[in-house]
Amino acid sequence: MLDKNMNTELNRQINHELAAAYNYLAMATWFETQNLQGFAKWMYQQRDEEHMHAQKFIEYVLDRGGKVELAAVAQPASDYDSAITVFQMALQLEQLNTKTIHELYEAAFEAKDYASQSFLKWFLDEQVEEEKSCEDIIALLQMAGDNPSALLMLNNDMGSRTPEKA
Ligand code: MG
Repeated sequence: MLDKNMNTELNRQINHELAAAYNYLAMATWFETQNLQGFAKWMYQQRDEEHMHAQKFIEYVLDRGGKVELAAVAQPASDYDSAITVFQMALQLEQLNTKTIHELYEAAFEAKDYASQSFLKWFLDEQVEEEKSCEDIIALLQMAGDNPSALLMLNNDMGSRTPEKA
């Protein structure tokens, strides 16, 4: 049976994952309005991944006999200044998610909840990847600067992303 505090914290994380998904959806639609379909495709895949993360937490809470409680998801931004601003916001989002996953791991450690510690390891690794991919894209966008052909080339690369296996 899941510790009550752990259950609350896990529900909070479900909300964070869904909030991330919602933000990525907003970012995807913004890229569509900029005619940058490759970036939009990347963002839609990112949205799908965050949904998958939320689903993993949901199944885990249910497997442990806990209770899933879904909270309201905050409204994301709908206007962005530039592609690079979007990825800077995405990086902030991922850094926040890393922080809450670390807090969750700490709570599992304090509760001597070994199963949750084991479950959370996948997310610890995943967050390293998430932050790295945002940082890499920011670096490329910085390199592209104000050059439209460099941006279009990046847009093509972004569009070739394939969905990650769960
Ligand atoms: Mg996530």
